[in-house]
Amino acid sequence: MADQQKLTASIIIISETASADPSTDKCIPTLQKVFTSLGASKWEITATKIIPDDVTKIQNAVLQSCAEGVNLIVTSGGTGFAVKDVTPEAVGPLIQKQAPGLVHGMLAASLEVTPFAVMSRPVAGVRDGSLILTLPGSPKGAKENLEAVFKLLGHACLQAQGGDSRNMHKGGVEKLEKEAGVSAKGGEKKVGGGHSHSHGHGHGGHGCGHNYGPGHGGHQGPKAHTAPEERPQQSNDPAQGPSRRYRQSPYPMLTVKDALHKIAEHTPSPTIIKLPVNESLVGHVLAEDVTAQESVPAFRASIVDGYAVIAGSDAPSTKGVFPVSMISHAQAGEHQELQKGQIARITTGAPLPPGATSVVMVEDTILVSKTDDGNEEKEVEILTDEIEVGENVREVGSDVQSGDVIMQKGEGISAIGGEFGLLASVGVKEVSVYKKPIVGVLSTGDEIVNHDREGDLKRGEVRDTNRPTLLTAIRGSGFEAVDLGIVSDKPGALEQTLRDATRRVDVMITSGGVSMGELDLLKPTLERQLGGSIHFGRVAMKPGKPTTFATIPVKSNSGERIDKVVFSLPGNPASCVVTYHLFVLPSLHQMAGVEPRGCARVKVQLDGDVRLDRQRDEFHRAVVKAGGDGLLHALSTGGQRSSRIGSFKGANALLCLPAGEGSIKKGEMVDALLMGKLVGDV
Ligand code: AMP
Ligand code: MG
Repeated sequence: MADQQKLTASIIIISETASADPSTDKCIPTLQKVFTSLGASKWEITATKIIPDDVTKIQNAVLQSCAEGVNLIVTSGGTGFAVKDVTPEAVGPLIQKQAPGLVHGMLAASLEVTPFAVMSRPVAGVRDGSLILTLPGSPKGAKENLEAVFKLLGHACLQAQGGDSRNMHKGGVEKLEKEAGVSAKGGEKKVGGGHSHSHGHGHGGHGCGHNYGPGHGGHQGPKAHTAPEERPQQSNDPAQGPSRRYRQSPYPMLTVKDALHKIAEHTPSPTIIKLPVNESLVGHVLAEDVTAQESVPAFRASIVDGYAVIAGSDAPSTKGVFPVSMISHAQAGEHQELQKGQIARITTGAPLPPGATSVVMVEDTILVSKTDDGNEEKEVEILTDEIEVGENVREVGSDVQSGDVIMQKGEGISAIGGEFGLLASVGVKEVSVYKKPIVGVLSTGDEIVNHDREGDLKRGEVRDTNRPTLLTAIRGSGFEAVDLGIVSDKPGALEQTLRDATRRVDVMITSGGVSMGELDLLKPTLERQLGGSIHFGRVAMKPGKPTTFATIPVKSNSGERIDKVVFSLPGNPASCVVTYHLFVLPSLHQMAGVEPRGCARVKVQLDGDVRLDRQRDEFHRAVVKAGGDGLLHALSTGGQRSSRIGSFKGANALLCLPAGEGSIKKGEMVDALLMGKLVGDV
């Protein structure tokens, strides 16, 4: 093997019995032995798991190992014909590249032992660079199958991981065989293992439904007349038509929490841009500290209307009658020095003349005499002797000192105005901020027509509710939204629209087409045509179960690989809006550097009973108001059918209700996600 680095493997045992009592498992030690005895220290087993025969649990375990990037995943169990045997059904749909040769190798080796080998239904192939093999559940059967192909796995794993095949294949098959320690010569039929099968045996084990019959050896078994890839198989390829579509979603069901983790993990990091300090800055988050280049105020300024005076120990009393020798208005300009015995009339915000120490409020003075034309003050009497140095004066830099950090990285510029005002006050002209993502929105479905289309609807037509609603919600959340229109349920149209959109927007939100119908093209289009990765395709929640999150790799203008994010939301309008607030918004916030992300979570008191869903956690539309008692009060908007957008009218919050029996009663506290502003008193 060219690569001296160790290959990693995880072993997943699929058995009801062993998952209930791990001490009954014999497969893990047996398989570990195969790795150590045949693996020549090239392998490291990084994880072992025992799980029951459950499609979702199997898929989750396999996907987790794939995500950890192991080279090889071997499962053992659940490959027989018993009703509970579902391993091939769970693993098959996860495989991106089939490996019928490995299946053939395993079956051929078993067939040398017993014709009952045909009762095993293994699958093998690659997902995300990990090679997956499904072995039978009996320790003997699992061992034989693994041994049958073991020595070839290193090579397959390196290729699957992206190894340079050309280099690896230099020197031809003989060199490869030598490196792998296998040979096709000398009548040796097995492709890998080091022992012969002339003995008869009966496989036992933990309920895998794989009990080979006794006493068969060395003869030719039944021969299949079709290659595995020729046999009918479920597929997500729309070109194969409805009869081949999946009849059960192959995507593991994630919890909302896990789905949010996946989103956080795969949302691209924020990019930094420079923006001028103008209204376009609102809603952005600073990517760098901002330092004041000027002081505020930049000159000594009066904070009242009155008279600038000279106070302090080296001046005579401020009390008395003084000539008004000059005027300082709030405007640019120079002044002469104020001399002892003189005062200057001054307005709020105007610069103190040089020499002045303080300002006396106009209220503490009386006019004594006017100029001859009667228009101006000539002399003014100051009535108090208690004026201190610095009184009623804003010193240079007393609000902001030049060189101070006035705003820190991570702080946002709100529309309330404070931050914008601060930046403006010190003359900052440009700042570094995180670029806000641009979000494209499209609706899918042959039945969908523009919401403002004139005339009555034809039978089957539906007005596009989701696109205008999402565009408004996105803009309301402070992000730029691009209308990508309505796309029909024809494969090419969706692919082309999404492909074009990757050049225009950072995030795409689609709605519809993520259920299990044969026209539901989103997932296959994302995976097959656009080379995207679906990070989740089902979430255990109500509404919003088919919510799908994917990334599509594209080349940026500068040639580097960047990921565009796709949220494929359910078609039902209420589901679509709930999942926007729950899943899309945190991702937009993450890209824009906004923390904390997503809707604010608050505790609210229920003003009426709400019924729980038995199976799924629910996000229930509600109106939350601030009560006079200092609590937030929530009232359900009524019927929560996912097609009923009316359940959103007036709603400013989603109640987070756990799955369960019965209802939560009026007066109890629950969590709520605030989607909008709080409304007035109850
Ligand atoms: P789908 O997931 O495409 O099967 O859609 C589920 C349901 O949502 C169907 O009843 C669709 O007609 C409906 N739907 C899909 N997209 C929209 C939309 N943009 N506006 C209103 N209803 C929609
Ligand atoms: Mg549809």
